[in-house]
Amino acid sequence: MSVTDYVEQNQERFQAELFRLLEIPSVSTDPARQGEVARCAEEVAAQLRAAGLEGVEVKETGGHPLVYGQWLGAPGAPTVLIYGHYDVQPEDPVELWTSPPFVPTIRDGKVYARGATDDKGQVIAHVKAVEALMKAEGKLPVNVKFVIEGEEEIGSRNLAPFLEKNKELLKADVLVISDSAMFAPGKPSIVYGLRGLAYVQVELKGADSDLHSGVFGGAVPNPGFELCKLIAQLKDEDGRVTVPGFYDKVVDLSAQERSDYARLPFDNEEFRKELNVPGLSGEKGWTPLEQRSARPTLEINGMLCGWTGPGAKTVLPAKSMAKISCRLVPDQDPEEIARLLAEHIKKLCPPTVECEVMSLHGGKPWVTPREHPALECANRAVQTVFGEQALFVREGGSIPIVVDFQNILGLPGLLVGFGLNTENLHAPDEHFDLGNYQLGIRLSIELMRELATYKASRL
Ligand SMILES: [Zn+2]
Repeated sequence: MSVTDYVEQNQERFQAELFRLLEIPSVSTDPARQGEVARCAEEVAAQLRAAGLEGVEVKETGGHPLVYGQWLGAPGAPTVLIYGHYDVQPEDPVELWTSPPFVPTIRDGKVYARGATDDKGQVIAHVKAVEALMKAEGKLPVNVKFVIEGEEEIGSRNLAPFLEKNKELLKADVLVISDSAMFAPGKPSIVYGLRGLAYVQVELKGADSDLHSGVFGGAVPNPGFELCKLIAQLKDEDGRVTVPGFYDKVVDLSAQERSDYARLPFDNEEFRKELNVPGLSGEKGWTPLEQRSARPTLEINGMLCGWTGPGAKTVLPAKSMAKISCRLVPDQDPEEIARLLAEHIKKLCPPTVECEVMSLHGGKPWVTPREHPALECANRAVQTVFGEQALFVREGGSIPIVVDFQNILGLPGLLVGFGLNTENLHAPDEHFDLGNYQLGIRLSIELMRELATYKASRL
């Protein structure tokens, strides 16, 4: 029997087995559900074993367990590490669900249940792909390792330590994650870049206490005003950040990447209307989509100063504070950018007020080079299953675990999601399109076939 026939004929059972996972309330943040989380790990492990994976183990982590399984019967072929998570968000507010969150219910070709699209449906599609290949062909075209954790929704606290401790076990050539959405329905996209972050807090201090603005105003410096003047100088007329050295390590988008961006189905005016903003701004020379995901930014996240309650209070504030963060792109380094930003702010600050800059939080940007052969493999797999080219996308946010996989295991990665942003993840009535479940299984099969042909090239 061909593998496609096998997937077709086992469609109902594959759904039933997904539903078995969806029935378990593996809410990782809820201590009362610890037993359910553990039970879900066991069920994931059972499905890995049934698929023909070996060395399947529920591994203790210090928090919720993680499920590992592998198949290494393709000597000489690349090894694909597949990551996903079996834990879910809480179901609250439960009264807003049309059907109970842990009773998988099909409506309109979609299964409604907490965790359906995030991430049980997506990760288990890869497991079913392994089963289909093992049953139909007796082997896989690549070596495969699965890491399915139970703490993604609470920040993956124990994942990086697990990767550190198990470098040898987890050795692989490429990382595949399906925990994201397609760019649009029927438009599978491959995410190959994420932005990093540098976050600082700026505090200016004038007098020891707030002063009467009538008695003292004019002679005594106003930290609120100085902060505004200072922040206004951090970007120029063209929306470019003025911090010296800020752009030095930015790797410019290649011609290929800019043409990828141009192909994305995205309308600036629709985007503007959807957000109901009077106009879009941004860095000159780059499209809104590029600005949102492939260019570094500097934004004010919050400001505090003086009297902000109702009515008037004629006060000359003693202090002002702003939280400022930069989204970073490869190869900007969060520590270096925080340092450059702090130095620049201190230089701009007049000697009439005291200035302190604290670094609050940082994260590295991530990219798999666009010309990396694994991306083309994924593109061919998408073409086989969907009949059209994949969309190549960088995302504006950060996913720290992807950076961990790159830093600790040195793995290039592909984020190949087959969920949809409209599937209410983290919200009531979360659902997953069962057609996409089926396509996801087929895509995983084709991806393994394609990845078998590429020569591992390490980043
Ligand atoms: Zn997720």
